Amino acid sequence: MTKAALTGLYRTGAHRLLAPYTQGAGVIFTLNQVRPQQERSFAPNRGFEIAPEFLEAMLDQVDDVGLDIVSLDEAVRRLREDDARRFVCFTFDQGYRDLAHHAYPLFQRRSLPLTVYVATDYASGWGELWWLALEEVVGKAREIELCRQGGLWRLPNVTAYEKRRSFEQIYEWLRSVDEARQRQVIRALADTHEIDMSADCHALMMGWDDLRALAADPLVTIGAHSKAHYAISKLAPEKAISEMEGSANIIERELGTRPIHFSFPYGDETAARARDFALAKEAGFKTAVTTRRGVLFAAHRRYLTALPRVSLAGDYQSLTYTALYLSGAPFALSNRFREVSAA
Ligand SMILES: [Zn+2]
Repeated sequence: MTKAALTGLYRTGAHRLLAPYTQGAGVIFTLNQVRPQQERSFAPNRGFEIAPEFLEAMLDQVDDVGLDIVSLDEAVRRLREDDARRFVCFTFDQGYRDLAHHAYPLFQRRSLPLTVYVATDYASGWGELWWLALEEVVGKAREIELCRQGGLWRLPNVTAYEKRRSFEQIYEWLRSVDEARQRQVIRALADTHEIDMSADCHALMMGWDDLRALAADPLVTIGAHSKAHYAISKLAPEKAISEMEGSANIIERELGTRPIHFSFPYGDETAARARDFALAKEAGFKTAVTTRRGVLFAAHRRYLTALPRVSLAGDYQSLTYTALYLSGAPFALSNRFREVSAA
């Protein structure tokens, strides 16, 4: 839903009337980076960042409306046992270093649980944060040349408008091609424009020592987020299983506990589908989360490896929007009141 539609919905107050039907049993929020806002002229990935102050205000808001912030295990228990107390889960994808500095302390101070989904290549320091590498390339280059469908694709890249357009077009293309090709293209771009993806990975991602320190806190659940952060739906079944099961094996080896919760990389309809929900179960996960938008209903107890979440996006940092999310109304309207989407 657009901001205008959300604001319109809020003004009518309809979300309050709908809430008894649309709020469901609980909601899982997705967060990526949490860090103080920086003024940057070109920051196309800013949508994946929220400010610590906003997160703190949201924790207050959830408390004010009387919802419990619970772990994923407790959420599953409530779904299975028809426990009527509504809940909220906070989940963080990737394992960004700033989580330890800016988000975890907020939870620790209030003794609230959180989940961190770790992509093991990132924790090992060799993961490819390709969307950030692309941002760096587009930010510094004056022209970008790419081989696409056997031809040369040349993008002028000087003005702010051109840069925004280059990023969008290349990003969209790289999400559509197969995963091996995507990484090949980004490696070539990074090489040409002298960007060190492994330095980015070390600088931005928690390593195993950081994760061990975090995992020692019983408030923290460590989940798996694959090894190389590929869209699982695009992989052959053996490779998909190896990304899922393999990441659980590595986390178990490094942290001593086998993760039973999984988060699909990207997690949208193009990245995780029915086959993948079944594979996650086969790989031994109790739950798997997507980024399909929606709240949880009791019916989700039969679809625990296809759980919807609600992303807290950088451009939507307002307690008005989060009040709407907690009502479930925007998702009921966009999902046409269908509770479960697992196809
Ligand atoms: Zn991710």
